[in-house]
Amino acid sequence: MRKVFKDFNKKPLALTKQETLDHLKTIIESKDAKKIKSDLYRGKYVKENGTKGDAVIEELNAFYHSKCAYCEDYSTVYIEHYRPKGRVIQTNHGGYFWLCYEWSNLLPTCHECNKIAGGKGDQFPIKKTHLTLKDCLENGEFSSNKINATYLNQQEEPYLLHPEIDEPKNFLGFEIDSHKKGIAIKELDGVNGRGFHTWNICNLNREDLLLKRYERVIDQIKDDLRKTFALLSKGAINKTDFRTEIKEIFVELEKSRRKKGIYVIEMVCN
Ligand SMILES: [Zn+2]
Repeated sequence: MRKVFKDFNKKPLALTKQETLDHLKTIIESKDAKKIKSDLYRGKYVKENGTKGDAVIEELNAFYHSKCAYCEDYSTVYIEHYRPKGRVIQTNHGGYFWLCYEWSNLLPTCHECNKIAGGKGDQFPIKKTHLTLKDCLENGEFSSNKINATYLNQQEEPYLLHPEIDEPKNFLGFEIDSHKKGIAIKELDGVNGRGFHTWNICNLNREDLLLKRYERVIDQIKDDLRKTFALLSKGAINKTDFRTEIKEIFVELEKSRRKKGIYVIEMVCN
């Protein structure tokens, strides 16, 4: 997970058009999350060539470089409601249905992070008390100031990090997986802190992710080494330059280890 700067006040047109606002009113009046339309929060539209697009997902992908907000995998076809829209499991809370079209509550995620079994699903543990619709009203009226994730996080203190509000690198680091299956995410703020809860809620140490993180690091090193050997064999560099280049690769590796807390050299040697 990494920090993303998304202006909560610059909402996609799909979320502010009259049809969406009218529909939100209907949902709030009925308090029925089943009425929520995914076409509206995805910003479904028809392109000039007749194919369908999702304006909100496209906009989120631009901010997140088409990566999942939680695991950073390149597979963002789902819109995740940071605060679950239909229910909050292990509580009596019926879900934050009034935030279904709220820009600061929408994150792009992969299927694995989004799904209920083995993913984040409807989990939303917090330190304080889950707010209800009436907590977000001002003088009995629906208040846009009180649906902003920044305001809500101050009130509720969720354990799950919000990549557009929190700085994930203060809470999450990396380490070699204890079973040597790849690179795992570890918490930096204590056993029961937000870092621990975040990787646990989103299952960020699932096997495929351990391996993908490892491959990303190793592939880069292999690529650098291959290029340097190729230069030597072509006679483009002499043996002294070759040694300097190889040393430089390992110096960079060591810097990366210190910066990220990843024991890459240990992995390469293994
Ligand atoms: Zn993911």
